Amino acid sequence: RAKDAGGAEHHRFEPVLHASAEERRQLEVALRKALGRDEMELHYQPVVDSRSEAVVSFEALLRWNSIDHGFVSPGKFIPLAEDTRLIVPIGRWVMRKACEEARNWPEHVKVNVNVSPEQLLEPGFHEEVVEALAASGLRPERLEVEVTESIFLRDASVARNALEQVMSLGCSVALDDFGTGYSSLGYIRKLRFSTIKVDRTFVQGAAQGSAESLAIINAVVAMAKSLDMATTAEGVETAEEAELIRNLGCDKIQGYYFGRPMASQDAQRLFSNPSKLRA
Ligand code: C2E
Ligand code: MG
Ligand code: MG
Ligand code: MG
Repeated sequence: RAKDAGGAEHHRFEPVLHASAEERRQLEVALRKALGRDEMELHYQPVVDSRSEAVVSFEALLRWNSIDHGFVSPGKFIPLAEDTRLIVPIGRWVMRKACEEARNWPEHVKVNVNVSPEQLLEPGFHEEVVEALAASGLRPERLEVEVTESIFLRDASVARNALEQVMSLGCSVALDDFGTGYSSLGYIRKLRFSTIKVDRTFVQGAAQGSAESLAIINAVVAMAKSLDMATTAEGVETAEEAELIRNLGCDKIQGYYFGRPMASQDAQRLFSNPSKLRA
């Protein structure tokens, strides 16, 4: 298993459920300096074709190793970055870095980059993507932007325009964590998402025998197929889950079973030694 080979496991700074205002303030001070102090890094998690199990993409996942706070999980600092709008410069850095690193991978492998609503709704977002592609030389077809349903809660038409601009460059857009937000089928009809990512909670639910989760995955797969969109199952942790997901007709799989998020060099190394994946 790549998780053993990759060495990508950290000692996580456990999120405190009700962080005090003071703790939050200190974290914000540190977050403001994080890029300048070179504390940010991207890890990459493989997404595989459910049938061939070949790597089709890597999702870039941001890691923050703070000098002052140690490792802080994205579940903790991403919401803080969004609230303070620090996600705008941080997200710009992520976009640049991910394109730059993906440029060294085989041509058929895409890179998936998460984009927050605050970042997408910035007037300069389209320009930011153009610049990241130009600076790296990455073909636009190799970049897939990931957004969640939450983008439509804010300013739906602005979000839609921003995504259409990115699509017109040749990039694709995936709908992340599908089923956990305020799913509106209206937007699925209006926007040409290339992929719908079925949230981990449904995968875990189905694996534990939940008839409801199973029904939801079936429905999402059927809907995606008829709309000519692909599906990715998130959070697949075991061989049994992979088998179940394959039988449900999901096109792609992402999860610890096929690989944990890993440092850039380890992702790079996978290409020279593909058997490392799930060995
Ligand atoms: P996401 O985009 O849905 O990313 C998938 C998350 O699921 C990642 O958590 C990944 O490590 C985790 N995961 C993958 N496979 C498994 C599995 O088999 N089991 C379990 N239990 N978990 C699995 P991570 O890296 O902690 O990131 C959490 C979230 O933070 C991401 O969810 C994404 O919403 C956000 N995030 C991460 N990097 C960025 C970034 O560069 N920009 C923005 N805007 N958001 C980011
Ligand atoms: Mg994602
Ligand atoms: Mg997701
Ligand atoms: Mg998720």
